[in-house]
Amino acid sequence: MEESWQEQLKRSLRSPEEIARFFGLDIAEAKRIARHFRVQITPYFAELIKAKGAPLYRQVVPDPAELDEYEGAADPLAEDEDSPVPSVVHRYPDRVLFLVSHLCASYCRFCTRKRKVGDPGQIHPRFIDEGIDYIARHPEVRDVIISGGDPLLLSDRRLESILKRLRAIPHVEILRVGTRTPCYLPQRITPELAAMLKKYHPLYINVHFNHPDEITEESARALNRLADAGIPLGNQTVLLKGVNDDPEVMKRLMQKLLTVRVRPYYIYQADCVKGTAHFRTSVEKGIEIMQALRGWTSGLAVPYYVIDAPGGGGKIPIVPSYLQSISDEQVVLRNYAGDLYVYPQARLKKKKRPRVTPCYSAPAHP
Ligand SMILES: *Cc1c(COP(=O)(O)O)cnc(C)c1O
Ligand code: SF4
Repeated sequence: MEESWQEQLKRSLRSPEEIARFFGLDIAEAKRIARHFRVQITPYFAELIKAKGAPLYRQVVPDPAELDEYEGAADPLAEDEDSPVPSVVHRYPDRVLFLVSHLCASYCRFCTRKRKVGDPGQIHPRFIDEGIDYIARHPEVRDVIISGGDPLLLSDRRLESILKRLRAIPHVEILRVGTRTPCYLPQRITPELAAMLKKYHPLYINVHFNHPDEITEESARALNRLADAGIPLGNQTVLLKGVNDDPEVMKRLMQKLLTVRVRPYYIYQADCVKGTAHFRTSVEKGIEIMQALRGWTSGLAVPYYVIDAPGGGGKIPIVPSYLQSISDEQVVLRNYAGDLYVYPQARLKKKKRPRVTPCYSAPAHP
């Protein structure tokens, strides 16, 4: 008999002492770090770290660098300012983030929402009713992104009760679930879960993988199960120093995701979160990675690279400049290999050509 996800979770390394012992860290220091942000690692992922090393280790094993509090903010994206009720972030016109669980299978040391995640007082079950009520009262909300924490840490029954109530709201067109369980706790994706989710289509899932070594036989089985339930799968990756700040590693990750039926969706520039400065890379590194993807591999393997603007401006795409110049006569373009091409503009009669903001804001994908 395969171990259930609940049993796997119960066996997690969940105290600073256990984690310090397992990885040979200083116990007092591990305790100090855990006071700032919860520590926990599933046995499955701890074993994977042993086999694969640093890029996986850095993501979940507490590091004294987290105690450096001089750079960054607790809530750099100002999510709390766009929070009409504690469980909802309503920033964009037609969609909301709905935070339904404070729990995760393992805790990413770079988590953007570490001010809330892992803290039952911050993301409390009693906030769920208020969130559903808010969404029901706002007809402009046609897309609900169920997040947290990790929504798949809820039982099937509790998750289904949320999905059912959201589906009953006529203006909610699509549901999305964000989860890192296929990476940390692939046992969570049971046939029963997939069968339950299937009842609430159109439902999308965004998963979170940061390194090609995270895609194992177990996670592939979990992802296939979701895809077989007709759930379109996307992936969100965070650009992290010492994890995936390398064009070859990123390319391999994106390609490998496609083999397990996951379409790369976003690469995030690391947010300016307190205690995560050691994970941040330059923006040039992100641009270099995007340049190494577009044209050099399948277009399906190319996600958007975005910076979530500090202060609450939302996600802003950063695109390498393929547009060299634009005039009434012609557009000069640079292709993926760096060669220049000229596209002649259509001849205009009387009306003047509309002004277009050049270069950087041009979307990479139609
Ligand atoms: C990321 C995000 C969304 C979803 O954005 P998409 O670009 O539609 O995936 C919605 N609300 C908030 C607050 C977000 O941060
Ligand atoms: S799984 Fe997501 S919410 Fe949970 S700790 Fe990692 S980044 Fe944060």
